[in-house]
Amino acid sequence: MEKYKYLIIGGGVAGLTAAETIRSKDSIASVAIVNDEPYTLYSRVMLSKPNFFLGEIPFDSVWLKNEDWYKKNNINFFGGKKAVKLDSKNRTIILSDDSALRYEKLLIATGVQARKWNFPNSDKKGIYYLRTLEDGRVIMNAIKSAKRAITIGGGFISFETADLLKMAGIDTTMIIRENYFWEPLLDEESGRMIEGALKKGGIKIIYKSEVKEIVGKTNVEAVILQDNTKIECNMIICGIGVYCDFDWLKDSGLKTNRGILADEYLKANLPDVWVAGDVAEFKDITLDETIQIGNWVNAREHGRIAGLNMIGEKIPFKFVSFYTTQGLGISIAFVGDVRSDKSRIVIKRGSPQKNSYGRVIILDKGARKEIEGATLINRTSELAAIAKLIEKNIDVSDKLDKLGDDNFDLKSLIQ
Ligand SMILES: Cc1cc2nc3c(=O)[nH]c(=O)nc-3n(C[C@H](O)[C@H](O)[C@H](O)COP(=O)(O)OP(=O)(O)OC[C@H]3O[C@@H](n4cnc5c(N)ncnc54)[C@H](O)[C@@H]3O)c2cc1C
Repeated sequence: MEKYKYLIIGGGVAGLTAAETIRSKDSIASVAIVNDEPYTLYSRVMLSKPNFFLGEIPFDSVWLKNEDWYKKNNINFFGGKKAVKLDSKNRTIILSDDSALRYEKLLIATGVQARKWNFPNSDKKGIYYLRTLEDGRVIMNAIKSAKRAITIGGGFISFETADLLKMAGIDTTMIIRENYFWEPLLDEESGRMIEGALKKGGIKIIYKSEVKEIVGKTNVEAVILQDNTKIECNMIICGIGVYCDFDWLKDSGLKTNRGILADEYLKANLPDVWVAGDVAEFKDITLDETIQIGNWVNAREHGRIAGLNMIGEKIPFKFVSFYTTQGLGISIAFVGDVRSDKSRIVIKRGSPQKNSYGRVIILDKGARKEIEGATLINRTSELAAIAKLIEKNIDVSDKLDKLGDDNFDLKSLIQ
């Protein structure tokens, strides 16, 4: 049985960055990556961006590493193989082809999977999810002949795909279960601003609604909503959330919640096992909370820190992550923890009327008040300053008025 000093399950940006970091510090140790998808590292982010999706740039620009890179760095790449069992007692991973690999140190960086529609007739042709390169290829092919599309869900996948479908000349209707777009992560005013952009771009939105029936023989031809409205369509793109697949970790002893639980060093509860990327539910020392974050920069930095800790350093993960998207003439940015439950103070900057609206989310720690996160619509230029304020845990208890003044320069608060 092959044995590796460092074995990495999941070859996305988190897993690959960990391998790259390990190799940069140790030129001889054995390193291997097992990846369910057969591909070398590609940009998942690009899958929903117009230039790639609409074929304006060569397909090959999606690749971030080619096979040569793995060879040159002496990293064994098991592409197209899935880890199906973790036997932590024997430090062994069983793969989908029944082979087994032993490890000294293990990193799990398996990301998340698109939640599937479990619905009568939801196996009809024409129903798509966008998570993998293969998903992207299939959708890019389908838009060549589709005339009418439906997107399901009110989050970033729906926002970006609705924009893409419209650009491809497809009549697009968005169906959301909520009262407004991106509820409850955003407040209603922010949601309405985004809807304004979607509608201006010609996208129809149906609120508080769910599909009750899919019509069509083999291909989807229409959907029927709960109020019996029938909408004709040749394709449906579902953006109804993500989940982590833990089936292969059953009986391993690994502690999981929504993600795999890890401390601030990205160390899981089992000996010599670390976690990185979207799959990690980790102790965030800036926010002092255990959270799970799904974005590219967070996954990359997780990979770097996990890699360093695997080779024996002890570095806590301290990073303020962010996510930005733009389309339909609007830019949206999230930085830090943007949940705005009752325990947090929300300070508004600008307004929807000014077409520039931010919400700074503050944790009330009694004597201290610290910024935890922000949502910024058409105010992305404030992202870097807010990230710094979060990172430095600056007390803003006597600055709340200033934070609410949208002309006030946030950079002046950075000490
Ligand atoms: C369409 C789309 C657009 C996005 N756009 C943005 C954006 O604009 N900005 C941004 O910040 N983020 C964006 N994201 C999110 C970003 O891509 C992810 O946060 C990031 O890719 C997470 O990296 P990861 O390495 O943790 O996981 P992943 O990239 O998901 O990689 C994990 C890999 O592990 C493999 N795997 C899973 N289980 C197993 C197993 N049992 N055995 C072996 N291999 C396994 C998976 O097949 C996958 O290839 C986007 C995501 C999507 C889907």
